[in-house]
Amino acid sequence: MLNHTKSTAAFAAAKKVIPGGVNSPVRSFRSVGGNPPFVARGCGSKLYDLDDNEYIDYIMSYGPLLLGHAPSVVTKAITAAATGGTSYGIPTKAEITLAEMLCQLVPSMDMVRMVNSGTEATMSALRLARAYTGRDYIVKFIGCYHGHSDGLLVKAGSAATTLGTPDSPGVPKGTVATTLLIPFNDTDALEKLFAEKGQEIAAVIMEPTPGNMGLVLPQPGFLQKISQITKKYGSLVICDEVMSGFRSAQGGSQSLYALDPDITCLGKVIGGGLPVAAYGGKRHIMSMVSPEGPMYQAGTLSGNPLAMAAGIVSLKYMVEHDVCAKLTARTAILVAGLQHAAEKAGLNYQFHHLGSMFTVFFTKQAVTDYATALTSDLDAFKIYFHSMLEQGFYLPPSQFETNFISFAHSDEDFEKTLQAAEIAFKEVAKRK
Ligand SMILES: *Cc1c(COP(=O)(O)O)cnc(C)c1O
Repeated sequence: MLNHTKSTAAFAAAKKVIPGGVNSPVRSFRSVGGNPPFVARGCGSKLYDLDDNEYIDYIMSYGPLLLGHAPSVVTKAITAAATGGTSYGIPTKAEITLAEMLCQLVPSMDMVRMVNSGTEATMSALRLARAYTGRDYIVKFIGCYHGHSDGLLVKAGSAATTLGTPDSPGVPKGTVATTLLIPFNDTDALEKLFAEKGQEIAAVIMEPTPGNMGLVLPQPGFLQKISQITKKYGSLVICDEVMSGFRSAQGGSQSLYALDPDITCLGKVIGGGLPVAAYGGKRHIMSMVSPEGPMYQAGTLSGNPLAMAAGIVSLKYMVEHDVCAKLTARTAILVAGLQHAAEKAGLNYQFHHLGSMFTVFFTKQAVTDYATALTSDLDAFKIYFHSMLEQGFYLPPSQFETNFISFAHSDEDFEKTLQAAEIAFKEVAKRK
């Protein structure tokens, strides 16, 4: 057994002053049991905890660390920026550079506004869509996560179409009353909803390739159907690529499925590990944003110079080294190996991968939406997770999160991962 003495003490101390001991719920191991190790430092593909245990990391800060932990291009850029001051509240040229890069990488965007988190990006994108269309309703897919703003914090209802009920106490019913929920990949539900309410729908917000119920892929034609039907009814499409942007492909998932969304949300990778997100889109829509237009949105630390510097060098490195395409190929090889091991162990599984992301669902049923994701055997996942952790591999502590690799992950890391997964899958098979 790994020694976790110092982490255990840290977690006890944390719980006294931080709710649940963590600053974001999934970090707490609630769904897999046990206590999280506390990180001392990260380097490349690896993490080291307070007790000096080494882990190969498949969380990568839940997506942002495309180049791995503490890549020198990023740490140098941050250091250089910091020596000139860490925040001004006055415009800088770095903000133009990152904005230009984003608009070039994601050509559906003519203009972009920087914010500090994905939650802010989606919240602002919805306000913008409502301001632009003068309509109140938005459509959200069950199991897609768009951050924790009130109107988006709604759970699946059992009926095909349900008016949202809040996912958390403290969210007024009225706030989510304008959030309409349908299952992902359900073309019929989409058509039915638009036939009923289309004229009142401001926007459909979606992860084109959902990553927050585990990684789920769109069925052929589904995303095109969204484009067509929104166009027909004068509603907007908001592509939430906070996770998929620069994880699924260099142009985001919209480039893979030839989408031309009205508004795009980005985050995670674009900050190179610092807190940055953005929303952008067509010029005539973005011109609504204050101070050019009447839709108010602001931020004291938005466009922060350290964060801009980290984002700029990360994206530049990504493009120059063709990182997205290389990681896509490497992920496919890793996943093929994992799948072979799961097959050999005789498990029920569905492996999904896209770009530098992957998920293994422990179910024999095809996973196409939230309901089918929920057929996963969570006990199997727990055994797999803890076996991997004990062997020195830090996976996201939930069946419904996506694994991420980075440019720092080596062939040797992958070989070790496959050996460990073989053992973990056998443990799953044995105890079932
Ligand atoms: C992570 C995520 C968000 C929220 O971003 P935060 O920076 O955590 O607020 C929104 N949408 C998607 C698709 C995400 O994956």
